[in-house]
Amino acid sequence: MNEHDSERIGGLLMADGMLPTDDVDQARVIVLNTCAIRENADNKLYGNLGHLKPVKDRHPELKIVVSGCLAQKDQGLIQRKAPWVDVVVGTHALPHLLDLLKESETDGPQMDVREYTETFPSALPAAREDAFRAWVSIAPGCDNACTFCIVPLVRGPQRSRSIGDILAEVQGLAARGVVEVTLLGQNVNTFGRDVTVPASSPTPLFSRLLREVGAIDGIRRVRFTSPHPHDFTPDVIEAMAETPTVCEHIHFPLQSGSDRVLKAMRRSYRRERYLGWLDRIRAAIPDIAVSTDIIVGFPGETEEDFARTLEVVERAAFDSAFMFQYSPRPGTRAASFDEQVPKVVVQDRFERLVELQERIGAARSAAQLGAEVEVLVEGGDKKGVSTQARTRTNRIVHLRDVLEPGTFAQARIVATATHHLTGELVRSPDAVTA
Ligand code: SAM
Ligand code: SF4
Repeated sequence: MNEHDSERIGGLLMADGMLPTDDVDQARVIVLNTCAIRENADNKLYGNLGHLKPVKDRHPELKIVVSGCLAQKDQGLIQRKAPWVDVVVGTHALPHLLDLLKESETDGPQMDVREYTETFPSALPAAREDAFRAWVSIAPGCDNACTFCIVPLVRGPQRSRSIGDILAEVQGLAARGVVEVTLLGQNVNTFGRDVTVPASSPTPLFSRLLREVGAIDGIRRVRFTSPHPHDFTPDVIEAMAETPTVCEHIHFPLQSGSDRVLKAMRRSYRRERYLGWLDRIRAAIPDIAVSTDIIVGFPGETEEDFARTLEVVERAAFDSAFMFQYSPRPGTRAASFDEQVPKVVVQDRFERLVELQERIGAARSAAQLGAEVEVLVEGGDKKGVSTQARTRTNRIVHLRDVLEPGTFAQARIVATATHHLTGELVRSPDAVTA
């Protein structure tokens, strides 16, 4: 979500006549678009601002902007700690960035951290990193209140876009050669709930959206993140299974395998329900790859709770996992829970979890040996002698051939490692617009 915001910020600045540069001494504007999900993001921001101070001293006309979740969280603190910051723009105020920059020229430092997104800025341009794939935000914000999570505090409540608005964006992308889209929301299963009268829609809206996006001419791959195990519904499995363009991959965040911890996290599903969903998903889409998010060391997590997580990880056989050490976030309920787990214990559990998941991931990867798969080329290596591509199941494939980004090809898997596969072309690639 933040990376997509960065694309919109880039798009706005470019629409105003600017060009990107890698050289800070050339820059007229530097935007630090920030994430607040874990504490190290805080430290990084203030470290980076420290490094920019001498640049600002050298070029007083340079504008330094802090945007995103930390801007929303820290507000006036940023310019108190780093008075050389010209603009602080929160998550709901992005469309006003250019005005704020202009006002800072005449009126000095500016800040807009309004608390609410009035309307989704669909019309904002986006400087997308790739010509062939794109993120599409379907519902910013979140209506849940997981006790560890700062997202609802910095992004506000869920604000679903209209289906028509989203379809128009994807049609426009497809017309410009985009072949893969990833639909973004914090809880995609509740997409539309904030704009429809309960029970007024005969089918839940997310499965309808998947089918309609999947049917757009030119779109060959549809991905989405993240579904929430509590709000997941069978019609989404049906839509995934019946829409050929929807990829065989699901990111299905577990967080913990202990029911006691899930309850304390206010994640209102339990381990058996979670595993039950996985069985149903795999029964309907046999080759699907599953990834997840897991937090280690949530306050009050005992060795027994952690053993439950390891058990679920074994049973779920995830293809990959984002594993995090719990990080207390200001303003969240869990930050004030009494039983914070000591750092050494968290580290030890984290290492054991990573070791287990690496073993499982390597075995899942090894099972791909000999398979023939469709890959979409993402880019070349720096030396220009090989190519990185991705399967529909979201696995990275290294190819020895050099192919244009955006090309589809068929590859046979000839070697496997935990986090990537190696493939050989079995058929010449189709020329795809990129
Ligand atoms: N909306 C998604 C969901 O409900 O699964 C999660 C989005 S969050 C931006 C991404 C992941 O960050 C979460 O799934 C969680 O594992 C992790 N995370 C969030 N808050 C955290 C915290 N305080 N400490 C450690 N990890 C955290
Ligand atoms: Fe955070 Fe929970 Fe919302 Fe995900 S569902 S963004 S973890 S509050």
